[in-house]
Amino acid sequence: MIPVTRTFLPPLEDYMRQVARAYDNGWLTNRGELVKELEQTLCNHLHIRDGKVIAMTNGTIPLQIAVKVLGRGGEIITTPFSYVATTSSIVWEGCTPVFVDIHPDYLTIDETKIEAAITNKTTCILATHVYGNPCHVEEIERIAKQYKLSVIYDAAHCFGVKYKGKSIFEYGDVSTCSFHATKVFHTGEGGAIFCQDEDLCKKLFYSHNFGHDGPLAFHDVGVNGKMSELQASMGLAVLPFVDNILESRRKSATRYFELLQRKKVATLTLRNGVDWNYSYFPVLFSDEDALLKAEKAMQLDGILPRRYFYPSLNRLPYVSQVSCPVAEDIAGRVLCLPLYHSLTEEEQIQVVSHLP
Ligand SMILES: *Cc1c(COP(=O)(O)O)cnc(C)c1O
Repeated sequence: MIPVTRTFLPPLEDYMRQVARAYDNGWLTNRGELVKELEQTLCNHLHIRDGKVIAMTNGTIPLQIAVKVLGRGGEIITTPFSYVATTSSIVWEGCTPVFVDIHPDYLTIDETKIEAAITNKTTCILATHVYGNPCHVEEIERIAKQYKLSVIYDAAHCFGVKYKGKSIFEYGDVSTCSFHATKVFHTGEGGAIFCQDEDLCKKLFYSHNFGHDGPLAFHDVGVNGKMSELQASMGLAVLPFVDNILESRRKSATRYFELLQRKKVATLTLRNGVDWNYSYFPVLFSDEDALLKAEKAMQLDGILPRRYFYPSLNRLPYVSQVSCPVAEDIAGRVLCLPLYHSLTEEEQIQVVSHLP
């Protein structure tokens, strides 16, 4: 079988060595030594200045917390082309998603259409760097400043992505990442929030720990978004391999680009200035029928690509339905091909053989 992705498992001894530290400490959660070390190591690895990161229990809770703190029950301008968590977090926190269509090449929110969607209830822009391809961050920043809006980036796909020389996590008021087992870097389940502003960072920190301000005092209402020492153990065991993982993904992606030159599918257009992380390999078919035919042929051959992202999120049953023609068109004909650290050339040739 050739799945869309395979979880990278570090050598068991490496994982056990980290878990043994939690045992020795007799300490499994509440921000022990391993979570703190993981945060510090991540910042060093990603060259994040000032270390403003908070590790959390998955990649959705940081989205919910950011939406709660910055969205304040208002309207949030967002993309219809992302994983469902981007939209569901908005609705879950009692805010209203306002969908703005996407750019037909970059597949990120179309920044030229954002201003027309702003009302006096708008509080935030929540956009996704889709497949690790950055949004037009400069223009989004300009709009946010002009209209006094906050910017949250769902950067779940972006581990290791740099834009114009700095980590993509350093753009926007807040960026969130997922360390789910299917992502480029993982802690089994896990995630993090990156934040530039010290006061905002404190608010987010309180929010992820019940609002605790010491054992007996409470700063404000909060939830439990803490990462455990066991999750951090996995992260610390995976992190030393992450450069190798990215390198093998780069090789596989380069090979796909070559193999696809003679095919009638289009590949992702990356924004200028991005150091990409090869997190997904989407291909665009001429239409949905062509996609379904290729997907079927692959499944019969033991290959399991995934329709990331279908349906377009403006068609979810719990949002008010608006039309986003570009996103709906793309969602109908995009398929992510298998891409992972141990994918072989033979497997890639087999995958590509089913494409028109
Ligand atoms: C994976 C993903 C999430 C959710 O992350 P979890 O860690 O699974 O909670 C959110 N947004 C996007 C775009 C994702 O791909």
